Amino acid sequence: MNAAELQDVAIVGAGPAGAALARRLALDGRKVVLIEASRFDRARIGESLSPDIQPELLGLGLRDRFLALKPLPSWGTRSIWGEPAAQARSHLTSPWCSGWHVDRTAFDLMLAEAARETGVQWIEACRVRAVRHDGTAWCVHAGGNVWRSRWIVDATGRSARIARGIGARRMLFDSLVGIAAVCADPGHAERHHLLVEAVEDGWWYSAPLPGGPAPSTIAMLMTDGDLCARAALHRADGWRAAMARSVATRCRVDAAACGAPRVHLAHSHRLLRPTVPAPGPWLAVGDASLAVDPLSGSGVLRALRHAREAATVIGEAIERPAHVDELIASFDAVRDSECTDYLIERAQHYAVEQRFESPFWRRRSRAPAGPAAAIDKPHAAAL
Ligand SMILES: Cc1cc2nc3c(=O)[nH]c(=O)nc-3n(C[C@H](O)[C@H](O)[C@H](O)COP(=O)(O)OP(=O)(O)OC[C@H]3O[C@@H](n4cnc5c(N)ncnc54)[C@H](O)[C@@H]3O)c2cc1C
Repeated sequence: MNAAELQDVAIVGAGPAGAALARRLALDGRKVVLIEASRFDRARIGESLSPDIQPELLGLGLRDRFLALKPLPSWGTRSIWGEPAAQARSHLTSPWCSGWHVDRTAFDLMLAEAARETGVQWIEACRVRAVRHDGTAWCVHAGGNVWRSRWIVDATGRSARIARGIGARRMLFDSLVGIAAVCADPGHAERHHLLVEAVEDGWWYSAPLPGGPAPSTIAMLMTDGDLCARAALHRADGWRAAMARSVATRCRVDAAACGAPRVHLAHSHRLLRPTVPAPGPWLAVGDASLAVDPLSGSGVLRALRHAREAATVIGEAIERPAHVDELIASFDAVRDSECTDYLIERAQHYAVEQRFESPFWRRRSRAPAGPAAAIDKPHAAAL
């Protein structure tokens, strides 16, 4: 490891966005350090991948390695949404024919290893608390060293920890949480699609989970954080009682054969740049930049697309430093329009469900643009 050498880019967070960006930049000959808080030793969430993931994997040169993970093909989605009858949407109409159900820990680790193999300096089990700029370069304390880099990229996911430390704020669009448990395999016929079911409290998602000693299923109730706390839906008895009130999910998943539920933050947000410009160039990618409702099933796909676009922007900015502000602004403008499109689609989708009068649905389906936005508190500045 050579921490004394000035890196082109320091990326904090080795989820799909950070790892894919690191690999692309390193393949373009950039010097990159990638710093990750974990050792990929805890189960990760977000296992259903859209068919459109396939060109991104091809672009990264990783389709064969992805298939070697033995993901389960997903033939489509069944949803009970807006009416009691299930609607089926097949992936066979997509040019790529199938989506995938993956072991997310194995998928993320594969991307991180592929980045490392391209020459990226890799530091794991190191949580970056803050970064600062010394007037010529960004300085990041990690792995007992101080890494200096021209660019810093926040790929820390929904927390947007690094960007918030340099003054960015999140515009929060909701307070969604997912309460998930791993359950017994419901059998072969249920192993190739995901099920979404709207219920009074929010909506259920269930999907097959490959990996592990035996096939299993993940079941997750999506609701708002305050509603989860009020009805104790995070507790095993509250969660099971909520499942008992569903129609299709409880037929597919045996609540008695599920592990302990765990709460995951799933709010939507868009990151806002600070009004006072930071002293050096930075970008946020993936969920740190724009986090979307898991209903869209597009989080990982967006993360990989952000990585591709960010690699182009950073590469061009290194070649043409006089244009750095313009290139960053163009990346942000694309994210703004992505956010607008997302909010319109989300509002339209939730508005289809009019059967429930509960707070969860009143917050979503009555307002044309969905729930109102709030700006979060600034993070402790770290410059
Ligand atoms: C409940 C739920 C269900 C979902 N289901 C799906 C789904 O089925 N399909 C789908 O496509 N998407 C799904 N998503 C969304 C998807 O998981 C995310 O969009 C995707 O993981 C974003 O990738 P990322 O790299 O931006 O962030 P992340 O995957 O969150 O990765 C961030 C990385 O940064 C690291 N990190 C964080 N802070 C620090 C720090 N301070 N220092 C160093 N490292 C740090 C973390 O350990 C992590 O490795 C779901 C999300 C939720 C919440």
